[in-house]
Amino acid sequence: MIRLENIQRRYVSDEVETTALRDIDLEVADGEFLAIMGPSGCGKSTLLNTLGTVDRPTAGRYSFGERDLAALSEKELAKFRGATLGFVFQSFNLIDELTIEENVALGLAYRKDTATGAGQAGRRARVAAAMDKVAIAHRARHFPHQLSGGQQQRAAIARAIVGDPQLILADEPTGNLDTANGEQVMNILASLNAEGATIVMVTHSPSHADMAKRRIDMLDGRIVASAMRAI
Ligand code: ADP
Repeated sequence: MIRLENIQRRYVSDEVETTALRDIDLEVADGEFLAIMGPSGCGKSTLLNTLGTVDRPTAGRYSFGERDLAALSEKELAKFRGATLGFVFQSFNLIDELTIEENVALGLAYRKDTATGAGQAGRRARVAAAMDKVAIAHRARHFPHQLSGGQQQRAAIARAIVGDPQLILADEPTGNLDTANGEQVMNILASLNAEGATIVMVTHSPSHADMAKRRIDMLDGRIVASAMRAI
């Protein structure tokens, strides 16, 4: 269970103050698939980045299971992120100089001993399994620029899931894709969730938000509506 309590986030730049998050209370249960919607500038990315611990709130509490994340140093947070979270971005963020399988293996960087089983062989097996899951194994030796956008995003999802994260954070994962590729990516996220993955996703697409189990709407830094999907 992930819990944000009374989170505030203010930015001050050039003496102009912006409040990106106001009075945010949010619980994300294990196995949940949550979509965040709202107009541009309402705080969606700041909320996702707060969940991802790449943005620190100005005030409020963030607990992840039993852990109080506000108490962790930057170094401890980096370790926590690497071991616990998987990130998927609108722009894929693959490294051009690395092959697809090398990119996917980056998702294991923080899991050297515990989660990877039998050393190198165990790591290779995990990478292969993650690529299989998103149907990208046939492009393992290719470089990102040799792949379509949809294939690149599937590879990025493989990188996010290869370490078996407790939470997947996706910031507009279909924003750079055409309709067919976007649907394919959404179907992958939905099936990962059906297998037990906990996912929080920012999206501008109401139909993609409808594939999540719950949708929250934000406006001006606040959560203004929350609705479970009708089944
Ligand atoms: P969204 O993802 O909904 O488009 P954001 O979370 O990116 O919204 O931004 C929320 C508000 O916070 C916006 O007004 C934005 O300009 C402001 N903001 C975001 N990041 C920063 C920053 N690093 N410095 C100053 N203001 C920021």
